[in-house]
Amino acid sequence: MFIPARLTAFSGEFGDPAVERAFRDERFPEMARQARLLFLLSIALNTLFLASDWRFFGTPHFYVAVPARCAVILVAIVAYFGSRRCVRFETLERWLICWQALTALGVGALVTSRSDIALFVVIMLPSIYYLVVPTAFVWTAMGGVGCSAVMLLGYTLPGGSETALGMALAMIMLNSALMLVVTNSNRLRRMEWSAIGSERLARSRLADSQKMLEAVFAALPAPLIVGDLADGRVLRANQAALDCFGGEAVLERMNLSDLHMETADRAQFRRLLETERRVSGFEASVGAPDGVRRDLLISAAPIEDGGVSGVVICGVDISERKAVEARLHRLATTDALTGVANRSHFFARADAEIRRAARYRRPLSVLMVDLDHFKRVNDEHGHAVGDAVLAEFAGLCARMLRAEDLVARYGGEEFVALLPETDEQGAVAVGHRLREGAMQIRTPSAGSALRLTVSIGVSAVLAGEAAIEAALARADEALYQAKAAGRDRVVAAAIAADGEAA
Ligand code: GH3
Ligand code: MG
Ligand code: MG
Repeated sequence: MFIPARLTAFSGEFGDPAVERAFRDERFPEMARQARLLFLLSIALNTLFLASDWRFFGTPHFYVAVPARCAVILVAIVAYFGSRRCVRFETLERWLICWQALTALGVGALVTSRSDIALFVVIMLPSIYYLVVPTAFVWTAMGGVGCSAVMLLGYTLPGGSETALGMALAMIMLNSALMLVVTNSNRLRRMEWSAIGSERLARSRLADSQKMLEAVFAALPAPLIVGDLADGRVLRANQAALDCFGGEAVLERMNLSDLHMETADRAQFRRLLETERRVSGFEASVGAPDGVRRDLLISAAPIEDGGVSGVVICGVDISERKAVEARLHRLATTDALTGVANRSHFFARADAEIRRAARYRRPLSVLMVDLDHFKRVNDEHGHAVGDAVLAEFAGLCARMLRAEDLVARYGGEEFVALLPETDEQGAVAVGHRLREGAMQIRTPSAGSALRLTVSIGVSAVLAGEAAIEAALARADEALYQAKAAGRDRVVAAAIAADGEAA
């Protein structure tokens, strides 16, 4: 933060010499111009006065006035050319002090005429020294006081004057008043300089931070959009956003409402923005105006931009990550040959379904299916046909069961099905449909020579059962009974006498 330097009470200059030097250095060109103008005015006016000095021709004062006037003009000429070579305040100040001293002596000789004009000059010259000679306060004060003394002496010495004491007191008053004026003027100029300096510093810091923000905005590899919260207009977008949404022309026409999100996602996004005032780590599938859907990891925050209530939205495209995740999930949960769920996924889903069934007191059943004499299928038609039959049967199950059911490959040529909201009777009916469907299965190479049958064991999950294993064991036992009874049939598990279907 900019801390204004302290000003001394007496001179109105900066207490810190370094700050005072900086102030003078900055104002040097203006001071040098002012000094040169002063010297030129002194040359011009004193040359004119030289003409008026002819009025003393023939009097003894004439021989004092003309050389004194010429000396004053000469001093101003020398000071003018000397000051033109100055590049520092101190050297300029030295020229000004010399000019002041010599001019005061010259004019001191001139005022010995004691004319009306002389009296005017006695007051005017110290005033000029105070008000327009740009030196440090100490030199201004010494110059003013010294000049006043010389003027007073010059005016009163020849023959003495009864008004000398009064004039001296008047000069003291004049000097005191002018010193106060100089102090005030010094103070005001320095305060103004400080204020301009602090404003300049604040502006440059603001410009720096704006530049940095622009650089970060442009360099950010993730799409960043600033939009108007009220009407959804896109106010700004970075390069990554242009690349993502198809260029400037598209973004200019685009409205935030053109970014399609699931209704629930959009509502949650708005709620977070309004209540939490920030959104972070928000994953959503977003459809852009170009029709492409992307999975985005979104961060957003409300901002004020030039009086407009806006929102800054940054979305990292995680579509690839999501696709990989989905692929991995598929690999981890699906059976590669048949495309239905694998055994571990069956148990994970069964856990969730059994809890749900218990909580809502709803029925839940399992089917265990084994392909009959499958060894023979392999032996007669080849292993490849056996594989194709397994895939066909899995497809048949997937088509015949409801979306909320789950079929999984349990092992070799065994499948299990999990049927929520289905009691044992319903599950037996499903088993029959599968059994009949299996008989229709043909493969291109085996044709009608293939006669596939399946045996199915059915069991409902019983009340109080917290795991699927018991129901599976009962279904397995029923399957065994189906095999034993000649295959190609559906058998429901024998429920213990005190058992109660879930
Ligand atoms: P059952 O009616 O008693 O069930 O007779 P089965 O021949 O089906 O019974 P078994 O369990 O003796 O044989 C199962 C056969 O299934 C053995 C195996 O070669 C075959 N099989 C298991 N997995 C696959 C597979 O992924 N592809 C093919 N083509 N055959 C498989
Ligand atoms: Mg088997
Ligand atoms: Mg079998």
